[in-house]
Amino acid sequence: TPPSQIRNFCIIAHIDHGKSTLADRMLQITGVVSDRDMRAQYLDRMDIERERGITIKSQAVRMPWQDDTETFALNMIDTPGHVDFTYEVSRSLAACEGAILLVDAAQGIEAQTLANLYLALENDLHIIPVLNKIDLPAADPDKFAKELADLIGGRPEDVLRVSGKTGVGVEELLDRIVRDIPAPTGDADAPARAMIFDSVYDSYRGVVTYVRMIDGSLSPRERIQMMSTRANHELLEIGVSSPEPIPSDGLGVGEVGYLITGVKDVRQSKVGDTVTTSRGGATKALPGYTDPKPMVYSGLYPIDGSDYSELREALDKLKLSDASLVYEPETSVALGFGFRCGFLGLLHLEIITERLTREFDLDLITTAPSVIYEVTTDTGEKVTVTNPSEYPDGRVASVAEPMVKAAILLPKDYVGTVMELCQSRRGSLLGMEYFSEERVELRYNMPLGEIVFDFFDQLKSKTQGYASLDYEPSGQQDADLVKVDVLLQGDKVDAFSAIVHRDKAYAYGTLMAERLRKLIPRQNFEVPIQAAIGARIIARETIRALRKDVLAKCYGGDISRKRKLLEKQKEGKKRMKMVGRVEVPQEAFIAALSGE
Ligand code: GDP
Ligand code: MG
Repeated sequence: TPPSQIRNFCIIAHIDHGKSTLADRMLQITGVVSDRDMRAQYLDRMDIERERGITIKSQAVRMPWQDDTETFALNMIDTPGHVDFTYEVSRSLAACEGAILLVDAAQGIEAQTLANLYLALENDLHIIPVLNKIDLPAADPDKFAKELADLIGGRPEDVLRVSGKTGVGVEELLDRIVRDIPAPTGDADAPARAMIFDSVYDSYRGVVTYVRMIDGSLSPRERIQMMSTRANHELLEIGVSSPEPIPSDGLGVGEVGYLITGVKDVRQSKVGDTVTTSRGGATKALPGYTDPKPMVYSGLYPIDGSDYSELREALDKLKLSDASLVYEPETSVALGFGFRCGFLGLLHLEIITERLTREFDLDLITTAPSVIYEVTTDTGEKVTVTNPSEYPDGRVASVAEPMVKAAILLPKDYVGTVMELCQSRRGSLLGMEYFSEERVELRYNMPLGEIVFDFFDQLKSKTQGYASLDYEPSGQQDADLVKVDVLLQGDKVDAFSAIVHRDKAYAYGTLMAERLRKLIPRQNFEVPIQAAIGARIIARETIRALRKDVLAKCYGGDISRKRKLLEKQKEGKKRMKMVGRVEVPQEAFIAALSGE
């Protein structure tokens, strides 16, 4: 296909505003998926994506569309909308010339509408504003067309109105894409340069690499080179997704498609890298992407210690398709052998642990998530701490914590409540702006560590679900942080240590001590539970000793009752972990850490 007949676009939107549903309708209206094969969220292939109704991986699909004279190839890239996956969005954007900015006509602009719009503008994309869900009784397209036009600097009447559900307006939108989005440009005679915008692991075909051709062309059987590593591979297959893979005889300027080389690990096919030919290849790579960096760390431990090697294999497998997952072995006195894992955010953490549980059948304990602290010791040494148990106790001169710029969009009635919440999370107000008469944007500088602990849930519950949140890293800042330890009979339980602000240390210590007192069964001796900062005890609870006559009571009594009691104890034993002399049931760890 000549570049003049290609249009590359993506759909950007806040989560739930209807990207996937609109993509479904486009697949159907352009005829690439038959009505018979159609199912909702067609492009969301992972089980978790389908169940949660969210898109995690980007998808690229080619669709034909005709105007009066010509047939065009439209390449659509469906992108995830959640903050954790912003890096997926940004690399998809770099493969496009235009973006559909999709906004729910009953909701209006939300935090990720803005975040994604800014990303699209940074990538010089042509923006087509579209209101979706106009079939909803609660839709108010006139009001939101104005809001959207104000935002991007256009006229309200140029804002398209569609329903991804019923298909109304979708043909018009396809026409608009052809008319308004610029055709790709590139040098067809130059050495090949293709940008990798995604690579996924497929257990049958190995790594499938999605590329956008910038210059030149690539053909099957050709030898190709990954420019960052200079590694050479034979091109076993090249083609386009429509949406099933269709092998082709090559890809030219502006085209979007996939490559298969037989490589087994996504790290061999790095997102952001440039692909060229081994012979007569390009000398200058395309500008790359920055690698996504983990923001949140957590320890993952198998509940059954003998599952350790299975956990390792499972993580290795997930890593094949998710280069952003990082992990290394870790041991905990309380929990045994496990892995310290780094995630892009809490949703990423949740999705990985859910996949480990479901796809690999592993029962896991997840320790409290921790951000990355930069500690300077009294000797001037810098230590990076992702696990409270590595905190250089007693030698700390200063601690810096990661900060984020948070943008919260909400109805104006909730401004007071949300400001209170942000202040209690050590946020400092950067600005406040009215988007319309009712909708306000609050901007805060906030410690990431405060956001990872149920901030989002709090925000939602305090605003009846009406607030939306987006954030981006904004560097490090010194803070008055301390490590709180929890001790059982004088022994530190490393899994419960946490780095918290000094003002919150007491509350954390008291809470954990109280929880553990309720969760740990009585033993043959008294067990003090303490919370401490260094050597200073800040909270204390006591589990009283068990009376000796538990069984005695049963003598002469109901024999079956006695047997039951013994069996119950035996069962319990299996799932106990010893902390010093204290037997702690596995469930107590889980419950204390999850706050259930
Ligand atoms: P995404 O998160 O942006 O991919 O959103 P989805 O496509 O998964 O849609 C989110 C929810 O909105 C789903 O329950 C859809 O059925 C619903 N939805 C999407 N488009 C429309 C529409 O045009 N009209 C109505 N009434 N509901 C829609
Ligand atoms: Mg979706």
